[in-house]
Amino acid sequence: MRIGALEAGGTKMVLGIFDEEGHLLEDTKLPTRSPAQTMPEIISFFREREIETLGIGTFGPVDLRPGSPTYGGITATPKLDWRNYPMLAKLQEELQVPCAIDTDVNAAVLAECRLGAARGCENAVYVTVGTGIGAGIFAGGKTVHGLMHPEVGHMLLKPNPLDPLPQGICPYHESCLEGLASGPAIAKRTGAGGEALPDDDPVFTLETDYLAQMCVNLIMTVSPERIMIGGGVMEREYLLDRIRKETVRLLGGYIQMPEITARIDSYIVRPELYPISGLIGAWLLGRDAGGNAVS
Ligand code: ZN
Repeated sequence: MRIGALEAGGTKMVLGIFDEEGHLLEDTKLPTRSPAQTMPEIISFFREREIETLGIGTFGPVDLRPGSPTYGGITATPKLDWRNYPMLAKLQEELQVPCAIDTDVNAAVLAECRLGAARGCENAVYVTVGTGIGAGIFAGGKTVHGLMHPEVGHMLLKPNPLDPLPQGICPYHESCLEGLASGPAIAKRTGAGGEALPDDDPVFTLETDYLAQMCVNLIMTVSPERIMIGGGVMEREYLLDRIRKETVRLLGGYIQMPEITARIDSYIVRPELYPISGLIGAWLLGRDAGGNAVS
């Protein structure tokens, strides 16, 4: 059985062909341009390889309300070409195979909970910190959708008193997580990409504070058994350990769970399947879509 997997990102599309056991047989990347330019390339890639099902992890916001007439469509994205684009419907119509869709970060948390750093967990969060910040939430053995889907990247935070840019750079909110802690927020404060900065640059004290505030908020609201943090900004090795320590400090002794207080190193961790957590999650979605009829 050949299962297609699509990780649809804001800057690139990652396409994979897997077998039923999860072996990646072939993959390729395409730049994300307009739907008129990019979708025909995606469709012909999968058509030529005669996939039998397809799983999609996509950038959002995306409509994931079962029964909605626009289910699986991109909604109010700032990428204007993609606004209201019927991603799932178009792929189903063109490929005529069962398809399943979730957010890119929900696909990633699904993969990590089944096969990666949160194996065995029924409740976990996967966060990616890069050009943007997004998180997939797994709760009670399922990815969380709700009214829309979680938008952890836009949770509001308390600005650090030493931050020269306390309002952040999000065009929608003052002091939201993505506006304060994404790669472009680091670059805006320092005039340099994060990778060019020394470990002791003060911007990483701010970064630690904001990502620890995020962890505390996730612990208080979602009660995950594990938090995974990946993405380009987290490639700086020592950052994760600082975030662990600061999270415990900010919790202030209120949460008395040894999983956190005694074993924080195995509670806040790196994703194991990075950088293809999302693609593997799309494979899982595609594999599980196999039993469903095309509507
Ligand atoms: Zn925001």
